Amino acid sequence: MAVRPLLITNPRLRKRFRDTINKLWRREGAKLFAYIEHNPGPPSRLSRSWRDRQADLLGDLVIASYLPYLRRWVRKRATRLHVRFSARTPRGEKARLVSERLTRRGWGHHKNIVYASFVGRKKCLKVGRSNVGLKRIVSQRRDVSFWHAGRVVLFFPKKRKRKVLPALECALTHLYDPIYTDIWPAQTKYGEKCPACRDTVGLRKLVEELFPT
Ligand SMILES: [Zn+2]
Repeated sequence: MAVRPLLITNPRLRKRFRDTINKLWRREGAKLFAYIEHNPGPPSRLSRSWRDRQADLLGDLVIASYLPYLRRWVRKRATRLHVRFSARTPRGEKARLVSERLTRRGWGHHKNIVYASFVGRKKCLKVGRSNVGLKRIVSQRRDVSFWHAGRVVLFFPKKRKRKVLPALECALTHLYDPIYTDIWPAQTKYGEKCPACRDTVGLRKLVEELFPT
């Protein structure tokens, strides 16, 4: 993914970002404000958990401002296909059905796939990937990503580059914010190259430096 410096331009995100920084400074400088104000606000000691929550919030705003860019990146680099299940599709059959339908549509020979499963209109269950084609999907039939899914969206990279699969997985994880992210494999392999991951990690470090607890 191209690396470019991030400037948050969305006014709503900018405001929330600025408010959060102000809150951090305000808390840090509470003892000084006490010279000029009767009610200088919460006590000056920063608790680690409070500070980390502010860092998380800032990180979320960074991710949010990357989303349009990531969306364009995915659209350019991958072909997207949908498979929907009917209410009568047996749960254990869904993964096999995905494989069947894609093979029928001529995508059976593709090795590299990233998939995202959804329940309801928008809620993403899980983002996963395969570099051995559809057979990995079939083997996941009891996995949460298919068991409860109402539909699955599959992304086939247009070019066969080595890093495109983890990049795609990382981008889609940011875009869809899945419920199940207990492990985030792309982050360990790809995290430093993903601008959204890189910037949130950098931002957290900066907050820890500026506001030690
Ligand atoms: Zn990332």
